[in-house]
Amino acid sequence: MDHTLIDSKPVMSNLAFETVQNVAILGATGTIGIQTLDVISQHPERFNVFALTANNNVKSMISLCQQYTPKYAVMLQEQAALALHAALKAVNASTIVLHGEQALAEIAGHIEVDTVMAAIVGAAGLHPAMAAARSGKRILLANKETLVMAGSLFMRAVEEGGATLLPIDSEHNAIFQVMPRQRAKNLVDMGIKRVLLTASGGPFRNASLDDMRAVTPEQALNHPNWVMGPKITIDSATMMNKGLEVIEAHWLFNASADQIDVVVHPQSVIHSMVEYSDGSVLAQLGNPDMRTPIAYGLGFPNRLESGVSSLDLIKIGRLDFSAPDFSRFPCLRLAYDALKAGGTAPAILNAVNEIAVEAFLAERIGFMDIPIMIESVLTTSGIEDVASIAQLAEVDAEARRAANIWLKNHA
Ligand code: NDP
Repeated sequence: MDHTLIDSKPVMSNLAFETVQNVAILGATGTIGIQTLDVISQHPERFNVFALTANNNVKSMISLCQQYTPKYAVMLQEQAALALHAALKAVNASTIVLHGEQALAEIAGHIEVDTVMAAIVGAAGLHPAMAAARSGKRILLANKETLVMAGSLFMRAVEEGGATLLPIDSEHNAIFQVMPRQRAKNLVDMGIKRVLLTASGGPFRNASLDDMRAVTPEQALNHPNWVMGPKITIDSATMMNKGLEVIEAHWLFNASADQIDVVVHPQSVIHSMVEYSDGSVLAQLGNPDMRTPIAYGLGFPNRLESGVSSLDLIKIGRLDFSAPDFSRFPCLRLAYDALKAGGTAPAILNAVNEIAVEAFLAERIGFMDIPIMIESVLTTSGIEDVASIAQLAEVDAEARRAANIWLKNHA
């Protein structure tokens, strides 16, 4: 399989930096969306906010639309779109308000859009990301679920659509930064032995299994290093986030499961590493602030001011590393297993995980029930080869149904 991300053709050949880029931010009200707007507002001469999208957060969208005056605003929910339209009309704002999944995909593929920040959370991000890929956009991919669910189809769409894919997840962005600019078809041809994804270990890095069984949503939402949306914060606490990232790295860098290792690094200063065949290990370091990878994606191949403070290594003093504990963090093992199983297994893993995280946040299941539920549904589901987005939508819906039945029987 060809991967445009690691192709040797020059990236961004069609976008001169002197021209103002029209940016569509999918998931504008989320933590990545807001940080993207923060970086963009530091460079008004380079970026124009063309479209903003959200699910139903009208209040936040009203203020974002007033501040950034996008041409389009899209809400997933119709009622939210009506409320946003009324509020913007009352202040004579010219933003056109649309709603629904179709509108999200149309905006992602809109002819006037140069760059798409794909920062919707969860499986909902897949369709707009596919639309951006098919339309040949420069895609800043934060929504890792797109690659977990539909890696083969998405990478093919990127290739066929002539899109440029830039990873925003800090680990993959770090790997992208320390890989050779001249890409080959696989890691070995680039002299790369393996990639090392760093993981903070989350809030329960040192907790006992007994303590982890009693964890509350409030404790799990308290990440030691990163400020993120609730879903990815819970995923970080279970280390499912790292598991999803292993699958993401597989598709982005054409790396097999045994070429991807996870290293627990509690300070979150090294964002990931690449080990070359001569023994050299290259790392990207920085403060844990998503504005760095966002600015890298927006400015690539140039560097942009991001507003992130300088890394003070003397103050940090030491960097620690340890191996991940698969027995206390079974979600990480489940993700490796799903990657090795291939086909629709990662899509099932992702769907059940989304239901499990919601159920945990609603206090319907315990923290350590999350991997039990995922494993139970995965082992009883049939795994098929991935054929189409429509098939994946069915697989996703079926996995959610099975997860809800599990919940009924166990919650
Ligand atoms: P948030 O929960 O903070 O924001 C999610 C955004 O998606 C909001 O704008 C939300 O709108 C919108 N949204 C939610 N559901 C839907 C839906 N069904 N259809 C359309 N839009 C929807 O998430 P994050 O910003 O933390 O994460 C976004 C993505 O980036 C995730 O895939 C995450 O894994 C990834 N990521 C995040 C990082 C981080 O530091 N936060 C780091 C690396 C990757 P509304 O506000 O209206 O609900």
